[in-house]
Amino acid sequence: MQNRLIVPWTCALALLLVSLFEGCAGHRATPEEAKAFINEAEQKLLELDNDAQRADWIKDTYITDDTEAVAAIMDERAINATVGYAKQATRFDGLTLDAVTARKIKLLKLSLTIATPNDPKESEELTRITAGMEGTYGKGKYCPGGPQSCKDLEELSKIMAESRDAKQLQETWTGWHAIARPMRKDFTRYVSLANKGAQELGFKDNGAMWRSKYDMAPDDFAKELDRLWEQVKPLYLSLHAYVRSRLHQKYGDAVPASGPIPAYLLGNMWAQEWDNIYPLVEPASADPGYDVTALLKRKKTDWKQMVKYGEGFFVSLGFDPLPQTFWERSLFLKPADREVVCHASAWDVDAVTDLRLKMCVQVTGEDFLTIHHELGHNFYQRAYDQQPPMFRDSANDGFHEAIGDTIALSVTPEYLVKIGLLDKAPDTSKDIGLLLHKALEKIAFLPFGLVIDQWRWKVFSGEIPPEKYNETWWQLRLKYQGIAPPAGRSEEDFDPGAKYHVAANVPYMRYFLADILQFQFHRALAQTAGCTSPLNRCSIYGNKEAGAKLNGMLQMGLSQPWQDALEEIAGARQMDASAIRDYFAPLEKWLDEQNQGKPVGW
Ligand SMILES: [Zn+2]
Repeated sequence: MQNRLIVPWTCALALLLVSLFEGCAGHRATPEEAKAFINEAEQKLLELDNDAQRADWIKDTYITDDTEAVAAIMDERAINATVGYAKQATRFDGLTLDAVTARKIKLLKLSLTIATPNDPKESEELTRITAGMEGTYGKGKYCPGGPQSCKDLEELSKIMAESRDAKQLQETWTGWHAIARPMRKDFTRYVSLANKGAQELGFKDNGAMWRSKYDMAPDDFAKELDRLWEQVKPLYLSLHAYVRSRLHQKYGDAVPASGPIPAYLLGNMWAQEWDNIYPLVEPASADPGYDVTALLKRKKTDWKQMVKYGEGFFVSLGFDPLPQTFWERSLFLKPADREVVCHASAWDVDAVTDLRLKMCVQVTGEDFLTIHHELGHNFYQRAYDQQPPMFRDSANDGFHEAIGDTIALSVTPEYLVKIGLLDKAPDTSKDIGLLLHKALEKIAFLPFGLVIDQWRWKVFSGEIPPEKYNETWWQLRLKYQGIAPPAGRSEEDFDPGAKYHVAANVPYMRYFLADILQFQFHRALAQTAGCTSPLNRCSIYGNKEAGAKLNGMLQMGLSQPWQDALEEIAGARQMDASAIRDYFAPLEKWLDEQNQGKPVGW
């Protein structure tokens, strides 16, 4: 009963409680009210969020219909409260507020990825449509030989990664993309309703709302991205040309010598990361001479030692060890008796000290890297736990992912030597294979990371009308990625919806930013640590100065514009993709040699 008075803070209620709610019914809201409002809102939202986190944790580590239902209820409760508070906060628009209150109110409004319209019928419709599209995606299957032969995305992805049969790859690709056809009508409606909700909060459209998260004018942010892309584009073009020529050797005329690469031949359903085709493009004599999985097995490493290696990395930088509860409450192994979500994630259940890792650890080189990445999230979460609740997050949404990956970039052969896994680091002449493998993952990803929201922003703004959804999608993918779909795509298809983040309304630009930022962070920290090796051989392991610099940025959380946080760690207020070129410099030189006399571009 009391909750109902506090949470749905409407003007109808306000009329009954005039002294508390002077903002309505003609009374002018004051800065003091705004401050009291946001402080109460963030406490209340923290409580709701903690409950939702707890329910989500139980669901992810014990999947049943019941735990899923309870988690959905708790999540919805937290989201609805956020929407409610964000809308109430518009009554303080135009007031001159102290900096902290103003920033908290701004973040509250921007914490939504979708704002439901005020009209209850439209609000209900939008909620139903978004859940429906995500459901359609989740249940998507391709049944090549009738209902007995259905394959889900996991099985289809395995084919995309491992098959080298062009015909089978094309069929698999086309089969999966067909799942999105029925989404088109709903997506069109979702766009107009999401825009309406965003406009009610004062944004031009839903895309402008997403772009407003970045402490700069939405259109300036878009220009920044173009600038960053121009910085890395030469490296991407070299990688693209090299991969195309090797695939041409493998697949013949299916891959043109000078045009775009077919989207289904790059080892991934969305051609977003190409590392699965590494064996097809592997350079001769590029074997680094060791294999981390084998090194771990040789030491008889178990799951706990794997996680201890990760923790040890941060302790070597001067961070406190993880709390005892981390070891008691985390999920480290796949249980034998129940379903869990094995996809690795880092949690901060009470947003203070209750840090947890959820992962089905296997003793492999890949998981060794993943643990370092995930613990990056955990140490970030703990570093900002003294901030007010609204500021307990990364400086922008790219920073959190970037930090985990920054740490993973420090997992170098020299680091493996220092922790006693490897006897001797190989000569740097062996680096081309490792660098190419990493480029197939990180450089290939950049234009993809850019395209998803370039397309969606134009859709939300109306620049791309529904009758051109598919055509423009492929125009952008051609322009940035240099890839093409199989022949015969039309507006019957809705290929963007075959990507989870589009179907599920999850903004995507953070992944592009993370990919750029991690190299900028790595270069800056390596300089602080006094590293003079090639950048790909620098590890900040054991360097307290680099640790202090990292911590200085982490503990700011979201309290200041991200430019301030960037300055703290990198000494610059602008994102800079030149660090990527530095990191991959030996590879870029090698690629350009391989591409001599061959066409580059498409
Ligand atoms: Zn992550």
